[in-house]
Amino acid sequence: MLPADATLRCPSCRRANPIDPDRTVALRCARCDCELEPLVLIRSAAEALVRQACDALAKDDFAGAARLATQSWTLMPAPEAASCGLLAAINRGELPNAEHWHQRLHP
Ligand SMILES: [Zn+2]
Repeated sequence: MLPADATLRCPSCRRANPIDPDRTVALRCARCDCELEPLVLIRSAAEALVRQACDALAKDDFAGAARLATQSWTLMPAPEAASCGLLAAINRGELPNAEHWHQRLHP
């Protein structure tokens, strides 16, 4: 679920566009009219995967958390995905992987 004040940066012109979670028409950039709906869907999918990764961490399913965090990161690099990946790697004793996630978290 997107926060009420969510914005999405247009990949074409870089304008930050507000996203109304209750919108009824496809989202387009207010400056250049680029279609933004696919990006909104990708971000929603990535956020859902991070929530699943957090749930897996809470259930001590560290392999599942690592897989879900990687899937989320692949869709959309975000600190939440890196945090889940880092915790999963630490709990699995995978130090090179933990370092990899840490670098993603603090580039
Ligand atoms: Zn634009």
